[in-house]
Amino acid sequence: MINETPPLLPFSPPRIDDKIIAEVTTALQSGWITTGPRVKEFEKRIACYVGVEKVVCVNSASAGLELMLRWFGVQEGDEVIVPAYTYCATANVVVHCGAIPVMVDVNANDFNINIQNIEKAITEKTKVIIPVDFAGFPCDYDELNHLVNSEKIKQKFKPETSVQKTLGRILILSDAAHSVGATYKGKRTGTLTDITVFSFHAVKNLTTAEGGAICLNLPAPFLHEDLYKHLCIKSLHGQNKDALSKTQIGNWRYDVFEPGYKCNMTDILAAIGLVELERYEDDMLLKRKHIFDRYTAAFSNDERFEVPVYETPTKKSSYHVYPLRIRNISEQERDAIIQQIAMQNISVNVHFIPLPMLSFYKNCGYNIQDFPVAYNNFAREISLPVYYDLTDEQIARVVAAIQ
Ligand SMILES: *Cc1c(COP(=O)(O)O)cnc(C)c1O
Repeated sequence: MINETPPLLPFSPPRIDDKIIAEVTTALQSGWITTGPRVKEFEKRIACYVGVEKVVCVNSASAGLELMLRWFGVQEGDEVIVPAYTYCATANVVVHCGAIPVMVDVNANDFNINIQNIEKAITEKTKVIIPVDFAGFPCDYDELNHLVNSEKIKQKFKPETSVQKTLGRILILSDAAHSVGATYKGKRTGTLTDITVFSFHAVKNLTTAEGGAICLNLPAPFLHEDLYKHLCIKSLHGQNKDALSKTQIGNWRYDVFEPGYKCNMTDILAAIGLVELERYEDDMLLKRKHIFDRYTAAFSNDERFEVPVYETPTKKSSYHVYPLRIRNISEQERDAIIQQIAMQNISVNVHFIPLPMLSFYKNCGYNIQDFPVAYNNFAREISLPVYYDLTDEQIARVVAAIQ
């Protein structure tokens, strides 16, 4: 019997082609490799694509989320509401600030944070809500924005810093690590709530190897131009002049107004991002939608499978993760299925292990039994490969393996 292993089918390799390599080479040859003209250009183009005035690039989404929690003055004793079903970064940044991540259960249909559960979890200590657009599918932003602006919820809010007093309510800091380019009622993520943070990590839809962007969309009287300058300084040790402005002859003196962080994006990374963004909407998103549609065509008429929601009359996904669920199976059976698929040299994945099941959070006292929907979604979930270079033949191989 011939037992030849088929070629490896990876889960989500980045799209690295000659164009990317040429742009990175040009950036290197320019002599300017850290934060400089390419980062500033990338920020402007993201702002233009999304539809906001100002975007700040940083070296990861995690850094961007933490920077904004710090800007809002989140500290010990505060509570920040997060979904129980997300990547650990969403809650870890809350812990870094000394605050408590208050986990809430998610929706059974679309995996996103449940608004009624948020309402029940709000206390006088709640400062921020971090919704996550799971798999690239936008959360219920109208309901969420309405909730934090309602008089009943506003009365509970106890502002402690001048920024908190200016906002006068709970901040919504959207973790849109998955959802660059997704839309809600025709508007792109970045414009849907106060602050939105994107991730450009290597596995994400739009990558710079590592990186992130903060979209500013606060209500009046916040001034985005001023906040943009403040955040550039805050992400560079609180130093009032960046390296580029210090290169002007004689312009060496600088000052530090607060002990800031060090999470600025580099021009080498922005060079990748500029190429990625230019071909994102009409190339990358179309390709990903094509893959999603193929999977759904293969699985939606088979009652063993529950296909994900990625388009409704009001919402359009960015097609980041295809979270297929298998009906009526246990976590152990799901794991066994993944083993069988792995034997065919196909990489699948699980998004995510719910936070209460991770040792750190379990040891903090969170219990997965309090999040039955998150557990049920997790136990039956298999994320299928989705990436630019995936061919129709490879899609067929994945489908056959799953079936
Ligand atoms: C990837 C991811 C992050 C973190 O992004 P980084 O850029 O790696 O810091 C945050 N939240 C979610 C939901 C993610 O999937």
